[in-house]
Amino acid sequence: MLSAEIIAVGSELLTPTKTDTNSLWLTEKLNEIGIEVRLKTVVGDDRARLEETIREALRRSDIVISTGGLGPTEDDITREVSAKAVGRELVYHEELVEDLRERFRRWGREMPKTNKRQAYVIEGARILPNLNGSAVGMAVEIGEKFLVVLPGPPRELKPMFEAHVLPTLKKSAGEIVVRRRILRVAGMGESAVDEAIAPIYKSFETVETSILFNRSEIEIHLAAKAKTETEAETILEELAGKIVQQLGVAVFALDGELMEEIVGKLLTENNKTLSIAESCTGGLIGERLTDVSGASRYFIEGAVVYSNQAKTRTLSVAPEIIERFGAVSAECAEAMARGMREKAETDFGISVTGIAGPDGGSDEKPVGTVFIGYADGAKTKSIKITLPGDRYLIRWRASSAALDYLRRQILKSSSEIVK
Ligand code: AMP
Ligand code: MG
Repeated sequence: MLSAEIIAVGSELLTPTKTDTNSLWLTEKLNEIGIEVRLKTVVGDDRARLEETIREALRRSDIVISTGGLGPTEDDITREVSAKAVGRELVYHEELVEDLRERFRRWGREMPKTNKRQAYVIEGARILPNLNGSAVGMAVEIGEKFLVVLPGPPRELKPMFEAHVLPTLKKSAGEIVVRRRILRVAGMGESAVDEAIAPIYKSFETVETSILFNRSEIEIHLAAKAKTETEAETILEELAGKIVQQLGVAVFALDGELMEEIVGKLLTENNKTLSIAESCTGGLIGERLTDVSGASRYFIEGAVVYSNQAKTRTLSVAPEIIERFGAVSAECAEAMARGMREKAETDFGISVTGIAGPDGGSDEKPVGTVFIGYADGAKTKSIKITLPGDRYLIRWRASSAALDYLRRQILKSSSEIVK
């Protein structure tokens, strides 16, 4: 397998305000054709450091791709420095200057002299045309290695790379393709997931599996290498199937879908409607649900009922329930879900009430205590969970737990109907 590394050039990329996004995009494109990115470097506009970086990169990797520093100004040094690093001259291309003059003429401007710098190309390099800017890119073979020099602006680099670099790299990468898939798991910890599925994924030697924790859920990332796309997809399908068999209903997404998308899909498939009463999540669940296009088919109403009075006024939660059990209680969560469902006349009503912290916790109900209520007309029930994290995480995790609770109820009731 060919190895690649990416060098992002630009002092602005070393400040806290500007992120190197080019390398993320390039990595995705390279991975798709079976080329692995082993290293990324961000270098400021610094001749010595850039030269050293390019040299080192060409020593250790098959393919080196730089982005940025091809502009016409003094701080754009990649052209000269890369030529120096590979020990080649820069060759002046008159036709490039003509192109540039023409480009400026179309903008109704005269080409500044400094732009002439952009007509110099590393000796022996293939010129990569730029549809959206003045800096051409360069691709050059240095012995067994391949150096690609691209401009910094994403809208210039992307079409250039896709049209003029990718086809060449695809050929040299040979017949390996990589297909990726993300499975998502709710209600289980990272190590429990790993313990359960390690024996399975370890037996798939052509798949790279990694398990990550992401705010409220576990992600299982699969990357299958094979000779063809179909083969890679078949392997992924088989491995994903075995993982689901092992983890069961905890796996909610088989191909990267979000919890709110999955819940939406289930509601649509079952032709059911939903309303949500939110206290500690303050509208987060409604926001997530409505982020999905087509949510109006199933999501009818959401209420943010933060105060006790609002719970009583809007959802008809009896004041005695709040007085006796507290607003953060199973009884209140259930009354909220029932009240919400009745007011909105939906198939399901879901509620969340809890303590997001950092204040408001007690021995009996510490910060992170959350009750989720469920009502479907036939029954009303609730669960209590205790969530770790700061206020942001507790709210986020409570919203996920509520959606997951609903998901499990729908799955349960639809399998009961089947039986
Ligand atoms: P340059 O080619 O260095 O003149 O860069 C031109 C512009 O492209 C910069 O001002 C950035 O806005 C953008 N740019 C350069 N490098 C990157 C990168 N690695 N990721 C995202 N944007 C970049
Ligand atoms: Mg720059």
